[in-house]
Amino acid sequence: MSETAVKGQRFTGSTRPPKTYEKKRVCAQKGCTTTLSQYNRRDWCYAHAPTKYPRLRGRIVKHDD
Ligand SMILES: [Zn+2]
Repeated sequence: MSETAVKGQRFTGSTRPPKTYEKKRVCAQKGCTTTLSQYNRRDWCYAHAPTKYPRLRGRIVKHDD
C-alpha cells in the first residue's frame, strides 16, 4: 500500500499542446472496449492500466478524464 500514485502532476513549463496518439484506440485488455483518449499514450484504459511505471522517460503524464 505504499505505491506512489503518479497523479496530480501539473503540465507546466510549456504551452504547446500535448502530443496526440492514434484516435479511436481501445483498451488492450481482452474484453474491454473502453476507448482510449487520444492523449493517453498507454495501451490500457484507466481501469486496466498498470499501476507501476517503470520510467517516465522525461515525459509528463497528463491525466485526461
Ligand atoms: Zn480496459
